[in-house]
Amino acid sequence: MSRSGKDEHGGYSRKEFLKRLSMGFGAAMAFPGYSSIRRLAEYRRLSNLPELPDDKKLNYALVGLGYYATNLLAPALQETKLCKLNGIVTGTPSKAVRWKEKYGIPDKNIYNYDNYDQIANNPDIDVIYIVLPNSMHAEYTIRGAEAGKHMISEKPMATSVEDAQAMVDACKKNNRKFSVGYRLHFEPHNKRMMELGQKEMFGPVQSIKGGNGFHIADDPTKWRLDKQMAGGGPLMDMGIYVVQGAIYTLGKLPLSVTARTEVNHPKKFDEVEENIYWKMEFPDGVVADCESSYARGMSYIRANARDGYFKLEPAFGYGGLKGETSKGPMNLPNVNQQALQMDAFADCIMNDRESRVPGIMGLRDVKILMAIYEAANKGERVKLDLNPETLDKVEDWS
Ligand code: NDP
Repeated sequence: MSRSGKDEHGGYSRKEFLKRLSMGFGAAMAFPGYSSIRRLAEYRRLSNLPELPDDKKLNYALVGLGYYATNLLAPALQETKLCKLNGIVTGTPSKAVRWKEKYGIPDKNIYNYDNYDQIANNPDIDVIYIVLPNSMHAEYTIRGAEAGKHMISEKPMATSVEDAQAMVDACKKNNRKFSVGYRLHFEPHNKRMMELGQKEMFGPVQSIKGGNGFHIADDPTKWRLDKQMAGGGPLMDMGIYVVQGAIYTLGKLPLSVTARTEVNHPKKFDEVEENIYWKMEFPDGVVADCESSYARGMSYIRANARDGYFKLEPAFGYGGLKGETSKGPMNLPNVNQQALQMDAFADCIMNDRESRVPGIMGLRDVKILMAIYEAANKGERVKLDLNPETLDKVEDWS
């Protein structure tokens, strides 16, 4: 058990845990041959990079050894070409023992939450990846940046706009690179949505529909149902992918949002929403009609354009993604998204480039998430004024 009393499955039921786990392993097993993805320039470039010898790789430390770190990030780090899992930060001593054995992590690179700041004195850690509950991302990202390390924070980057801004500021002040764990920007199906939408390959997109959700178990100790720790319900956890998907498919920012929440099980959902429905209004009258849920499984995004449609379903998981356009199936490979994401960040650090998914993008998304909650609470349209530099533009891909 972790010090929070949670189990190591992140509070998921065994069935749910195994289901999610199989999605991750499925992704790893389905790692593609390179020939089928020739169009994806960045993927090809990263995939074709020679694997660096261990002493040339960037050393990653994972903070918070729960479901995602254990089952997705640590295995993915074994597949990367530019990164090495070389450190951990955990509040659970038994995990430290197991991880040390499994990954050969030296004692001097194992920290807990109290001595975390001493990582500043450790030249064998280059990048810190925060995989803690949402409300803890800010504190540990800021402390990591102050310790002189490059930072990745998991999504949602923070539970308030103020926290997100402070994280961006801390990384900037310490001249450290900062990225968000937005793995789908490196995933072929989602990259295809970006290309089709942004390059208007079916004419201008006229509307978008998207949803992402799963049925959450009843365990009351789960932080995802705790407003203070999670910042909100399915919108923060799953809906953020739909917000992202609409933006990167269009390559444009929303101008305003409207929203409503729905709670059918008030005992279980006494702090966070159970279901949420929102609309994002983009320039030229384009609307993204979105939903997210902790009661229903779903994972889809569809763009209706002037001359056809394109869609993904499932759209946002770790593997098994499928795409289709009005001209036929996409036939793209499923890849190890996390490995590509972490190699891409290492590549940015090594070549002094900004991440395609920088902290300012995470800050932008926290602003949108908060605006969606405000719209739902007030029952009013909430206007947005967002930084255009936060867009991941296909034309900028190297
Ligand atoms: P878990 O609950 O499984 O793990 C969180 C870990 O944080 C715990 O195991 C524990 O690790 C540590 N922790 C420290 N303090 C606390 C506390 N008070 N309560 C609970 N845990 C604590 O969560 P997940 O791994 O599912 O999610 C972690 C983050 O990753 C979230 O922000 C989530 O949104 C994000 N995520 C992103 C995904 C993606 O696809 N990009 C997928 C899944 C999650 P320890 O015992 O080592 O201290």
